[in-house]
Amino acid sequence: MLRIQCPHCGERDHTEFQYGGDATVQRPAFDDTSFDAWYAYVFERGNPRGVHQEYWQHTAGCREWLVVTRDTATHRIDAVVTSRERPVTQPGAAGSPRRVDREVQR
Ligand SMILES: [Zn+2]
Repeated sequence: MLRIQCPHCGERDHTEFQYGGDATVQRPAFDDTSFDAWYAYVFERGNPRGVHQEYWQHTAGCREWLVVTRDTATHRIDAVVTSRERPVTQPGAAGSPRRVDREVQR
């Protein structure tokens, strides 16, 4: 069973959360008129096996948006941070692993 350590509420069952998609997708610049860049942002998603960063919202709790670093093969969760805590990445870093500031307390 998947358990997520909410930074505000503590460890909870994943049924209290709603999946929000891939957290590694980077929105193109506001003035970027490239069709391909916007198409990729809206429609193209990977299906990685291994460590991945995902958005989850604690809908049955504090309603905070979280970035969960999870292994898609084992469901092991390495880190959970609020989406506001996540560091801003450099342009062109889409799809690359991101640094997380706070590790999950076990
Ligand atoms: Zn919470």
